[in-house]
This record gives sequence, structure tokens and C-alpha cells, in this order.
Amino acid sequence: MTDSMASRLAAIEHRISQACQRAGRAPGSVALLPVSKTFDARAVREAAALGLRRFGENKTQEIRQKADPLADLGLSWVMIGHLQTNKAKDVARDVAEVQSLDRADLADALQRRLHDAGRSLDVLVQIKTSPEPSKFGLDPEALPQMLAHLQQHCPALRVQGLMTMAVNSDDPAAVRACFRRLRELRERHATAALPLARLSMGMSGDFEIAIEEGSTEVRIGSALFGARSYPA
Ligand SMILES: *Cc1c(COP(=O)(O)O)cnc(C)c1O
Repeated sequence: MTDSMASRLAAIEHRISQACQRAGRAPGSVALLPVSKTFDARAVREAAALGLRRFGENKTQEIRQKADPLADLGLSWVMIGHLQTNKAKDVARDVAEVQSLDRADLADALQRRLHDAGRSLDVLVQIKTSPEPSKFGLDPEALPQMLAHLQQHCPALRVQGLMTMAVNSDDPAAVRACFRRLRELRERHATAALPLARLSMGMSGDFEIAIEEGSTEVRIGSALFGARSYPA
């Protein structure tokens, strides 16, 4: 069977390594985050059998639904979708990492719940690099203030880097400009105390461009799991 999940995963890994080679980057310098949103626990179990251990989701309720039947696998759940402040408690219970941290009041809510739970959380700050009104993310201008806030007030949040979604466009130059903007922001604002080592950027349709622009982590849904059919 040619269109198995195993063969799709192999094809993605091959394309990642080819893009690394083109960009003069070490093979293995780009991690794959499989995005399992809208796919059921069975699909995640199939992916886990191929060696995948971290899964990106965009709803806390969906993580809860999958975490129970998959508890035997010891998987880590990564939140990549917009988070309402009132979901902070669910995050503190079920989530290993948040890549969609986009505002100080969410950081404060997470800090409170994590403190109560006696744990910490890896986070990436999501940046709005495209002018599309529908895209969430922190205004790039506000990043220095946000980083200062996190350092001063949110010790339970371990800031690892930045995340973005590129503009949804057929123009590769416009997509590339979004990824480049994220890398330049990192160059401008990284410090010894906060090196912002990770750049999560690139999805099924644009991950090779993202790798050429310095992505350390690509978030792949449909190219691995198949087309999503969203509920109406
Ligand atoms: C859904 C989603 C992805 C994966 O998208 P695909 O195009 O299916 O690879 C990546 N990042 C975020 C933030 C998403 O919501």
C-alpha cells in the first residue's frame, strides 16, 4: 500500500532533509511536530507506532478526549491553537507545551495555574507576521515588552522561542517574508538569558520555505494524517 501513514511520514522526512541540504543546514536540525487536530485517537496511535511522541492540537477539549484512551503511550500534547484565558487550568493539567502564547493576560493565567499545580511549561511566543486579520499572534512591536513580562512575572513559563503562521498565499515570496520576519525578530531580541533557540514555523503547504528561512520545527497535519474534514 503506497499511501500508508508510514510512507507519508517517510516522504515528509525526506523532504525535510532535502530542504536542510539545500539550505546548508545539518540534517536533523529541524524537528517534526505532527498536528493531529480533528483526527481521532486511533490515528494518533498509528502515528505513535511510527515513533512520534509529541502531537500538536488546537483545542484543550480535544486533547482531553484523546489523552485518556492513549494514556498508555505517554505522549506529550502541544497546544498550537488560540487559547482563551479560562482554559489555563486545562492546559496546566494536560499540556506539555504551548506554542500559541500571544498575550500577557494568558501568560498570567497560565502562571497562576501552573504554580498551583507545582509544575512548569515550555512556551513559544506566537507572533503575527502576516497582515491577515484572521491570524492570531502578538504584534512584533510588542515582543520586547512581552519577553520582559515573562521574565519578571512568569517563572513557571520556560520561554523557548517563537512561533508563527505565514500568510495564506500562493505567492512564495509573501510566505517567505513572514518566516524571515520571525527569524529577524529572534536575531534582534535574543539574549544570553533568553536565546529564543526555537523557531516553530512551516506547515504542510510551506514547510520547505520555512526550513530555508531557519525553522527548527515544522508543524505538519494534512501531509501526514490526510485531509481534514472540519465539523460544520
Ligand atoms: C492546523 C495547523 C497546522 C497544520 O496544518 P497543515 O496545513 O494541515 O499541515 C500547523 N500550525 C497550526 C497553528 C495549525 O493550526
